[in-house]
Amino acid sequence: AKKQGKNCFQFYTREINESERIRKKLYKELKKALKENQFVLYFQPQLNIHTLEVTGVEALIRWDHPERGILSPMEFIPFAEESGLISAIDEWVLGEACRQRADWKKMGFSPFSMSVNLSARQFYNHSLVDDVQNLLKELELAPNDLTLEMTEGTLMTDKEKTINVLKRLGKTGVSTSLDDFGTGYSSLSYLKFLPINKLKIDRSFMSDITEDVRDAAILEAIFTLAQRLKLDVIVEGVETMEQLNYLKETSCGEAQGYFFSRPLPVSEIEGFFKRA
Ligand code: C2E
Ligand code: CA
Ligand code: CA
Ligand code: CA
Repeated sequence: AKKQGKNCFQFYTREINESERIRKKLYKELKKALKENQFVLYFQPQLNIHTLEVTGVEALIRWDHPERGILSPMEFIPFAEESGLISAIDEWVLGEACRQRADWKKMGFSPFSMSVNLSARQFYNHSLVDDVQNLLKELELAPNDLTLEMTEGTLMTDKEKTINVLKRLGKTGVSTSLDDFGTGYSSLSYLKFLPINKLKIDRSFMSDITEDVRDAAILEAIFTLAQRLKLDVIVEGVETMEQLNYLKETSCGEAQGYFFSRPLPVSEIEGFFKRA
């Protein structure tokens, strides 16, 4: 038994060393990716449910890895958050998304808002509001050209701080959206005092909305609540015509999902835009 225990221990340390090695490699690669501009933004359209006009696009990061090709954010954002590299990545995303919005503005497309995902670290960073304002000014963007998406998890961390940041963001005129709404934390009471503009309903509610009466009941309660609180609502994860038709009967304003389009690179998303 003693001998076996020792083997186990050796096996265990070898595993730790192995994962440590992988983490170090990933860290190095991510730093290189930042330096060599290997990140790209894809864009997914957001549409007015009734007119089907494009009201916005969400910027979603991808890593164009030199050997592994296009990588999903799920493969590197969690590690970037853990290791602190997220700050530099976030800074790049916000800047790049705003520059792209400005380019599209110059190209004369009808107005729509660029949605950017903020990590918790970025949201609580002291310079966030200044960074946003500087970008708008430098790129000659209007506040409603930009929407910031924060998850419930981020906003539930520190009530006082959260309200303070949201109020300051509100004064800049940019829109704020509560992402993945309805998951994790139960945040209905928070809605009372969170100065946000929009709820983005998590896609888990959409998945079997046309069959599951419970999902529909919850969703309709959220729509009513949002209406009473004068919050805009967007639903993500719309994949079928049935789901869209269901939404058309509700007070939900906007939708996003594979039914309309997957996230696309710059050159392909432009086909969705109209000339002003
Ligand atoms: P999210 O903010 O909830 O983004 C929506 C995710 O749902 C995207 O995955 C999108 O491709 C996917 N999606 C869109 N429509 C549908 C649909 O109809 N069905 C299904 N099943 N999925 C759909 P993606 O691009 O892989 O991003 C995953 C997550 O990574 C995002 O979730 C967000 O939390 C994070 N992320 C992406 N880009 C950034 C970024 O620039 N900064 C930060 N901090 N996080 C990011
Ligand atoms: Ca999002
Ligand atoms: Ca989401
Ligand atoms: Ca999510």
